[in-house]
Amino acid sequence: MQLCRFFTVIVIILLTIFKCESKKRYVVGLLIHDDSHDTEMAFDAALSRFNSFNIHIEFESTKRVVSKDDVYSVYNEACDLISSTENLVGIFGPTSPAVAPIVTSICNNLEIPNVQIHWSSSQPQETTSINVHPDAKLFSIGLATVVKNLNWNSFAILFQDYESLIRLQYVMALQKDLKERILIRQIELNADNRALIKDLKNRGYVHFIIDCDLEHVIPLLKDVKEVEMLDYFHSYFITSLDAHTIDYTKIDSNSNITTVRLFDPEDEPVQNTIRDWEVSEMYHNRKLAFGPHEIKIEPALMHDAVNFFVERFYQLYLTQRPVMQSMSCKNMIKWDAGYRVASYLKITSMENGVTGKIMFKNNTRSTLYLQVVEIIHGNTKPVAEWSSFDVDELNLLRSESDMHQQMSTFLQNTTFIVSSRIGRPYLMYREPQYPGEVLEGNSKFEGFSLDIIDEIAKKMNISYKFVLAADKLYGNYNPVTKSWNGLIKDLLDRRAHLAICDLTITHQRRSAVDFSLPFMTLGVSILYSKSKPTDRDIFAFMNPFDSIVWMYIVTAYISFTLILYFIARMAPGDWENPNPNDLNPEELENIWDLKNCFWFSLGSTMSQGCDLLPKGISSRMASSMWWFFILIISSSYTANLAAFLTMVQMGPSIDNAEALSKQTKIKYGTVEGGATQAFFRESNFSTYQRMWMQMFQAKPSVFEKSNDDGVKRVKTTKNGLYAFLMESSSIEYVVERDCELKQVGGRLDSKGYGIAMPMNSPYRHDINTAVLKLQEEGVLSRLKTKWWKEMHGGGACDDVDSGASSSNELGLANTGGVFLVLGIGVAIAFLISLMEFFWNIRTTALEEHKGLGEVFLVELRFAVSFWIVKKRVNVFSSKTSTLNISSNENGNNENGNSEDTLADVSGIVKVD
Ligand code: GLU
Repeated sequence: MQLCRFFTVIVIILLTIFKCESKKRYVVGLLIHDDSHDTEMAFDAALSRFNSFNIHIEFESTKRVVSKDDVYSVYNEACDLISSTENLVGIFGPTSPAVAPIVTSICNNLEIPNVQIHWSSSQPQETTSINVHPDAKLFSIGLATVVKNLNWNSFAILFQDYESLIRLQYVMALQKDLKERILIRQIELNADNRALIKDLKNRGYVHFIIDCDLEHVIPLLKDVKEVEMLDYFHSYFITSLDAHTIDYTKIDSNSNITTVRLFDPEDEPVQNTIRDWEVSEMYHNRKLAFGPHEIKIEPALMHDAVNFFVERFYQLYLTQRPVMQSMSCKNMIKWDAGYRVASYLKITSMENGVTGKIMFKNNTRSTLYLQVVEIIHGNTKPVAEWSSFDVDELNLLRSESDMHQQMSTFLQNTTFIVSSRIGRPYLMYREPQYPGEVLEGNSKFEGFSLDIIDEIAKKMNISYKFVLAADKLYGNYNPVTKSWNGLIKDLLDRRAHLAICDLTITHQRRSAVDFSLPFMTLGVSILYSKSKPTDRDIFAFMNPFDSIVWMYIVTAYISFTLILYFIARMAPGDWENPNPNDLNPEELENIWDLKNCFWFSLGSTMSQGCDLLPKGISSRMASSMWWFFILIISSSYTANLAAFLTMVQMGPSIDNAEALSKQTKIKYGTVEGGATQAFFRESNFSTYQRMWMQMFQAKPSVFEKSNDDGVKRVKTTKNGLYAFLMESSSIEYVVERDCELKQVGGRLDSKGYGIAMPMNSPYRHDINTAVLKLQEEGVLSRLKTKWWKEMHGGGACDDVDSGASSSNELGLANTGGVFLVLGIGVAIAFLISLMEFFWNIRTTALEEHKGLGEVFLVELRFAVSFWIVKKRVNVFSSKTSTLNISSNENGNNENGNSEDTLADVSGIVKVD
């Protein structure tokens, strides 16, 4: 290499020293700016190379350093150069777009070929000027093809000036194919752009196109870095054609930065040019300051422009030597052959330039080559190339192994952020294992999802970190705001590399993110409570009447009794002869005291009747009305009780979705914003459409925030009047633990849960391979058994009768209250009897002047002597000789009732 360079230098020096005197000399002018050393060097090197190898003509150069923005001074310099230079055949430059047009204009007027290399958005007129810089429209088409292949859903454009928008016109036209809006914002040069970038961050933009001059790129990226947007999740496409020369290590970026350049550094013409430049610099005792990868656009284009001009001029020289003459701006003296030279340049072409083939059409360069490079951790890597020969195609340069290599470097350097949500048994908060255990990072969680990611991480040799989606949602698209929420939003905003939970793979989600192969298959089914009555109401016998009716009945009972009392006192028929034998009694007796009235109405209320009956017309009338009232009430009660208990016992029943859809009593719902809701909403099947309409119109809402809320609602809704449409895997988990619940019917569809990741994620293939391996090795089914059957109370319902009792018998749960009333009533009666017993003892003791103990013993003996059915009024009477018992069946002595009464009164009891 060194030897080769040495020889080249020697040859050039010798050729320069012994140059053939017979060579025809021509002069080319160069208008250069003071900071364009590399461009000047490229100009010189290209001329000397031509001069060294051409034996017929040689080119000398005449240069002027001109201002970048002072048009007047540039005008003067250019005219001075033109009038003071003999054999001038063309002028190169200047490169500043602000002053280049004046030189073009002068050259047009004097018909001197002018070669430009600066960016120009306007279409040149028919002139003697050519511009080797790629055409604005072609460049814009090239940029658009590159951006399209980046597969961005949406992006923001940060531009410097309105020239940028011309450059990006075809990029902006991509909007028609994008679902989301392209945002366009102008940056402020040499100012703080953080507020602008923060605003874009808040709007959720993660992809950016930056179009600005090279010197503004790093300050802008520094602002981006300060707003924490220079990480893996953000991508930038920088359109400056010199962006590949920036030292990106200064900003320590993890973002994906892409740019384009006009050449391939590995191409032979580029390598040769670099060698020429090295020689040229060596000739001036300097060292070339850059390598093939750092060539900027200006020297590259100047090199190609000079080569193109001198080569084509030489071709023209060989056929028709242009006649030379002096020119002047002042006197408007043109070069007669100039127009021919310029025209010839425009119809010819040159292969093998540093920037590819040079060819013109309609006065503009019609060829363009773009190499797309990615900047990864400061290193540039060519990834694709585009050329104007096939404007719609981007030729990918990375081989499989390159991508693999890049992938493994990426995987090892990255901690995967896994977005998830809390939901049993996929992800749950872990309880500390011992007091004082500090739970941090992934150890805060446990569950099926975490275990799957852990297994995948082991297979891929990566690290990961679980984070929870801020809104706790799965991921739903809002067509009004055109945005996603939940886990899907986290992926789209590049806040996470992966998303996992019971996240169903749906068509709509698939259009926004990629999914791994499913790690679980399932379908929508119905969660419902078992038909065993959930309502344990021992006072169910009260239910046939509303409590207010019960109150009315009690009030009616009391009121009727009081009224009957007054009626009976007034009714003459109820004043009776106390002694029927006495035909002319002196006194009449009325038996309807309050006690008897209450007993009478209670007896008829209970349908038992009573040994007392009214005899007066009015009291009989009142009693009949009461009996009528009681007849209706008690028949209604009996009928209602039977119906009610049967209804409670059997409960409402459904056995599939069809049955559910055909009734309106049992309400049903789904998780809000989940795949199940979407399934019903979007179904074309009439049953599911009907179900969707019922769910949609139900008030209050039948939708729940999570599966747990849905399960709770099924359990707490009285009388099984709510069913929850849920995914079968989650139902399986619930019914394994909650024996009051069951799955009704089969699956309504079939789908799967997958791990979601941003579209075109480079690690998708590796994740898929890992999932497949876990499936084949049985790890997935082991984990399923662990989280469904073993952990957190799994298997609790294995021994429990899985079906509902088919018997229609009433249980204690419904009839217990009757027993309770009976027990309490009898207990109260027993207490009263005790009180009566002791009251009687006290009274007897006082009357008979006996001790309480003595009377108690005697009375107790009577009470427990069950065979004795008669007792003297005064057990301590002197006539009493013995305790005699009459045990004839009727309780009467042989002398009939009157004798019995006498015996009772005298205290003498006969024994049979
Ligand atoms: N797995 C569902 C989803 O990913 C949520 C639960 C459901 O809709 O039943 O949206």
